[in-house]
Amino acid sequence: MGREYFGDIEGKFAFGIQNSDDIENLVTIDFKEQFSFYGCECIAKNSEERYCKDCFNSFEEHLKIAKEETCLNEDENILIKLDNVIIYEIQKEKHFNELKKNMDDIKDFLPSNVINEFHKIKNNEKVINGYSKIFSNVVSEMDNYIENNFLYFHRYKLAIQIEHVLNKQDTCTIYCEVY
Ligand SMILES: [Zn+2]
Repeated sequence: MGREYFGDIEGKFAFGIQNSDDIENLVTIDFKEQFSFYGCECIAKNSEERYCKDCFNSFEEHLKIAKEETCLNEDENILIKLDNVIIYEIQKEKHFNELKKNMDDIKDFLPSNVINEFHKIKNNEKVINGYSKIFSNVVSEMDNYIENNFLYFHRYKLAIQIEHVLNKQDTCTIYCEVY
């Protein structure tokens, strides 16, 4: 349960406190929407596509199959739908310096022991997996500080993951579930 993110990194947004667009608090970026097709469920290249050209020869052919398989709105005949994810394509050249600056700013809101634990693991390949046990020391350190702002903790964790990817490659693509 809960909203997950996946792509070059993966993990789960903190329930109730962290929005699906929290990445926008780390870098200046707009998300892209994702569209897919009824019937075949393929991802559409853009919202202008009327039918899936990979699976069908015509709009009519796709519509016929889609109507057999799903309860399409009878009078609309629209085969494309907005998906439950927003996509961020973070670019090293454009966003890396801003990310580092914002990470520095977040440090002021977190106990230094927690930051220290983050820094012990930040170069480990496993950080791209937000579910990894590698985070257990950071989490247990954070548990000592009940009064602290957990949003900044989760935001910093997300930042550590993105930073790790951008240290190795030019882009970091993240798919974020919105509900
Ligand atoms: Zn298709």
